[in-house]
Amino acid sequence: MKVTVDYGKCAGLGICESLAPEFFEVNDDGDLDLLKEDIEPDELQSVREAVAGCPAEALRIVDN
Ligand code: SF4
Repeated sequence: MKVTVDYGKCAGLGICESLAPEFFEVNDDGDLDLLKEDIEPDELQSVREAVAGCPAEALRIVDN
């Protein structure tokens, strides 16, 4: 599985970064950088929390 970002929806709020910092980072310009896409089994919980926590509904988990 991997995580995708709809950059048109993302508002750069950084909640995802606080929940899964190994995947998400809001850069100095306030834009989200996706640090990696592929989700290992032991990372799924934190990525799910980030998806659920994003108020803009910009994150999705999809099958490869
Ligand atoms: S929580 Fe959602 S809106 Fe905020 S930076 Fe992450 S993807 Fe963007």
